[in-house]
Amino acid sequence: MTKPSQKTHGRRKLAVSLPSGRRTFHFEPRAPAKAQCARCGRELHGVPTAKPQAYARSSRAPGRAYGGVLCPNCLSAEIRGLVRASGTAT
Ligand SMILES: [Zn+2]
Repeated sequence: MTKPSQKTHGRRKLAVSLPSGRRTFHFEPRAPAKAQCARCGRELHGVPTAKPQAYARSSRAPGRAYGGVLCPNCLSAEIRGLVRASGTAT
């Protein structure tokens, strides 16, 4: 029998067939939500959302400024806005 603590909406209910032919339910943790742009909400590709020790260094979020926070379009717009506000642009 399933432990009551497992039967929560925080866990995914998965119907499985056992080797004996019996069908039962397993409860597993839900996949973490996809990373989103902080400005426009668009999904960020290549940004892992698993626990930090679960993925290699080569598959981490982009190392640039606002990498893993803003999408490329919003980052470009932010940089343009900052430069224009600073008044240093010619
Ligand atoms: Zn964006």
